[in-house]
Amino acid sequence: SNEEAAAKAAADTADSGAPTIFDKIIAKEIPSTIVYEDEKVLAFRDINPQAPVHVLIIPKIRDGLTQLGKAELRHADILGHLLFAAKLVAEKEGIVDGFRVVINNGAEACQSVYHLHLHVIGGRQLKWPPG
Ligand code: C5P
Repeated sequence: SNEEAAAKAAADTADSGAPTIFDKIIAKEIPSTIVYEDEKVLAFRDINPQAPVHVLIIPKIRDGLTQLGKAELRHADILGHLLFAAKLVAEKEGIVDGFRVVINNGAEACQSVYHLHLHVIGGRQLKWPPG
């Protein structure tokens, strides 16, 4: 219904702590194009790419890390691991000489999925500042 759709849209702009679509991607219940994977992180192509290369990197276990603004000291290792994975993905995708890593935090930054994720974007001339 319209009401359900409106409720879902509203829920997606807030950090409710509810499971997200990324759990299904991790569980491979939803197919994705995986470009890199290790014991801690999964990197897959964004379904709505904003550039020729647009990969998302996520921790396989969310552990409360719905958004960067909720990070605690115990998350420091996984945060470092995610950032290093961004470099590996950029190398693998052939864009290591020019790429961008983005984390949208919260509704004002257009975060829509509350499972921390890094966007790795490249393969074209990027503009600055971003929108
Ligand atoms: O930073 P933000 O939360 O807006 O990014 C979420 C990203 O997840 C979007 O770029 C969206 O295209 C992507 N996405 C996806 N596959 C899904 C749902 C969302 O790649 N099934």
